[in-house]
Amino acid sequence: MKRFFLLTAALVAAVAVLVALSLPARRRALQGGGDGTIPGILHVHTNRSDGRSSPDDVAAAAARAGLKFLIFTDHGDATRRPDPPVYRSGVLCLDGVEISTSGGHYVAIDLPASPYPLAGEPRDVIDDVRRLGGFGIAAHPDSPKAELQWREWNAPFDGIELLNPDTTWRVWAQQAARASNASSDVKWRARRTLALSLLDYPVRPAETIASLLHVESPLNAVRQWTTIATRRRVVAIAGIDAHAKLALRGDPGDAGFALPFPGYEPSFRVMSVHVATERPLSGNAAADANALVRAIRNGHLYVAVDAIATPPSFEFSASNEHGTVHGGDELAAGGPLTLRVKSNAPPGFTTVVWRGTEVLGGEHHEPEFTVDAPPDPAIYWVEIRSSGAHPIAWLRSNAIYVRGSAPPPPEPSRPAAIDTVAMFDGSSATAWRDEHDTLSAGVVEPVTMPSGREIRFRFALAGGDPTGQFAALVYDLPPNGFVGDRVTFTARAEKPMRISVQLRGGDGVVDRWQRSVYVDTFDREHTVFFDDCLPVGTTHTDRAPLPHVRSVMFVVDTTNSKPGASGRLWIKKAALQR
Ligand SMILES: [Zn+2]
Ligand SMILES: [Zn+2]
Repeated sequence: MKRFFLLTAALVAAVAVLVALSLPARRRALQGGGDGTIPGILHVHTNRSDGRSSPDDVAAAAARAGLKFLIFTDHGDATRRPDPPVYRSGVLCLDGVEISTSGGHYVAIDLPASPYPLAGEPRDVIDDVRRLGGFGIAAHPDSPKAELQWREWNAPFDGIELLNPDTTWRVWAQQAARASNASSDVKWRARRTLALSLLDYPVRPAETIASLLHVESPLNAVRQWTTIATRRRVVAIAGIDAHAKLALRGDPGDAGFALPFPGYEPSFRVMSVHVATERPLSGNAAADANALVRAIRNGHLYVAVDAIATPPSFEFSASNEHGTVHGGDELAAGGPLTLRVKSNAPPGFTTVVWRGTEVLGGEHHEPEFTVDAPPDPAIYWVEIRSSGAHPIAWLRSNAIYVRGSAPPPPEPSRPAAIDTVAMFDGSSATAWRDEHDTLSAGVVEPVTMPSGREIRFRFALAGGDPTGQFAALVYDLPPNGFVGDRVTFTARAEKPMRISVQLRGGDGVVDRWQRSVYVDTFDREHTVFFDDCLPVGTTHTDRAPLPHVRSVMFVVDTTNSKPGASGRLWIKKAALQR
């Protein structure tokens, strides 16, 4: 018995020594903090999706951590009506959504309920969020989990998460995994780091999470952001991705066993987005939400890792002959440019001004300085790195965009069609028919409208879970007929919706390729280029082999329609063109 106690005591002592040696530094309390910006955080999950706690409890945790706003982004398809802005525990709570696209997760804020589920290709979800008046953020672009990671760099997203602790935790976990192809050095370092952080977490939770942010693996979000921002405005932001759940395998949402950490409150003490609103918050939730969202859209914000040092104070401006602007703003190029930076970064921290992907004017350690820059167009941003053995970006600004007078190069447009073969010319609709799964329904009928003959397609998808329900309006091409390189059609729908325009091959190979099209409630002409159609599932070829295309289909399916949905779609004109 005595021996057991001795052993236990020795073990406890050993753990205590380990903790003492590995414990990350306590956050530094800064003087001169509070620069008038509103601290808060985006990308928070509640128990309405895969988070642990209710919005009220999550807001209370944010209040304890000193945050002033929260943006909930539970997983969804955007058809749920978001809660109106409300103050909970003194924290301004906004309601957004995290949408799963085929190219990664997209966090959307400031949008109403969508009339149909948002899903599919990133370019289409981005388009839908914008049409609904929302603002979207490419989520966790560096996540090592392929289906989470944002992968569509050419898509016109509005903002990007440059920091997401869920990503850095996954990077460590992936390196530590038995199946990891990292070198054994890296593997063991990752294992040791994770094991020690488990010991340190109960003692200094926020600091421990922040200590994991120093991962040096190929995180390329910052590089991608600077490259894209050189061409167009992209708001740099951070998401905490808080769930208060840690699934040992798979996603927090995958039911099963999940650990109750990192908790909401420690997560909220890790980092914050500091938003420079035009006026202080008034206590009126709707008005304050407006001011907050306007500032976020304008990129009037910076990101700070509070678990290292807080509260931050930061200013970044650029002046030339046209005036003075701040982070997030655009400035017309003209005359010499002076950049001014002021912060309360602790001594030993390093401030760097970036011109695109290059450091301008070396490293700075003084609280206030200016840097001269050449007058020509470029983007500028500021990063302040912490001191110590594993420095991380403690603070990161948005970009100041110095733009030239030359208009952006026009989008390359496709040549106009020179050959046209009508699929429907306002008379016979005999080449058209419907297809649907066994429980769904579709009816194709020519109808006479005041403006002429149209094809009307009535559809009703079977209810229940999504199990591949579809209803399709199908046009079969005549054998050896003209295919062209595009289909042009004029359509409207009873309610706003998305249809999938599909090409189906023949010769015993029934592969399909598709392009999603938004159909409004009034007639609009659409053109789908066949080389823009992507495979549906696995296909023999990446693009449709045009001579073998047998059918053009206008498909309603569960990507953008709910099971049980019904409605009507009218096609006025349709033609194959080249
Ligand atoms: Zn996500
Ligand atoms: Zn998330």
